[in-house]
Amino acid sequence: QPKLSIKDLHVSIDEKEILKGVNLEVNGGEIHAIMGPNGTGKSTLASALMGHPRYDVTGGQVTLDGEDVLEMEVDERARAGLFLAMQYPSEVSGVTNSDFLRSAINAKRGEGNEISLMKFIREMDKKMELLEMDEKFATRYLNEGFSGGEKKRNEILQMMMLKPRIAILDEVDSGLDIDALKVVAKGVNSMRSPEMGVLIITHYQRLLNYIKPDFVHVFMQGRIVKSGGPELAERLEAEGYDWVKEELGIED
Ligand code: ADP
Ligand code: MG
Ligand code: MG
Repeated sequence: QPKLSIKDLHVSIDEKEILKGVNLEVNGGEIHAIMGPNGTGKSTLASALMGHPRYDVTGGQVTLDGEDVLEMEVDERARAGLFLAMQYPSEVSGVTNSDFLRSAINAKRGEGNEISLMKFIREMDKKMELLEMDEKFATRYLNEGFSGGEKKRNEILQMMMLKPRIAILDEVDSGLDIDALKVVAKGVNSMRSPEMGVLIITHYQRLLNYIKPDFVHVFMQGRIVKSGGPELAERLEAEGYDWVKEELGIED
């Protein structure tokens, strides 16, 4: 079973400390949600975990199944089973969606162990159907001219095809209407198993109506300040974040 362990993680951007001691453990079979006000460092956590070069790790440890993640290059992290669905996926010209996916899968499987084209197509068809995606999608260029909703679905498709050990979903719900939201949730829920742990980062509670988290964490001022179960998300939705600040004596 996968285990992502984050201990006292400190991260700076341009010498400014953004993450100030993040502690979190995500195990296979668990869904964790991180919620918090804007600008508190949630996306910084996701980017730092994936090894974005702009983010300097100045302290702490991150391990995946006991292996030191911070020592790994970006592609090694992906091969080790980390997956990040990004808040703003970029466009890549001249590469079709299915080409991109197949090479990403093969990069992970390694030389001599490539997935057969037939098997790949069959699997992709099945998953696209579940995500209610148009067939044409496979042959379109990656993210070029995709609507916001299409990009999100595509990220979930990528996750389903790559079968990561730990998936990090950063605001996959932003800008989605309720139907698209349900489809995204359906994709994530279809992957629920002891083989995968999920970290969902979200500003709003509504996604959590469809993907039931096991643990909810409140993120403020660069760290997790409070943890609980699904009821915590409901209270945040109803009452906002002020009561947490008061409870913990946080000033902003
Ligand atoms: P959240 O995802 O919680 O809204 P972010 O992690 O995006 O927060 O941002 C946390 C802080 O780091 C903000 O003050 C933001 O301005 C700053 N920040 C994030 N990314 C960058 C970047 N690439 N360059 C400079 N500052 C950044
Ligand atoms: Mg933000
Ligand atoms: Mg963010």
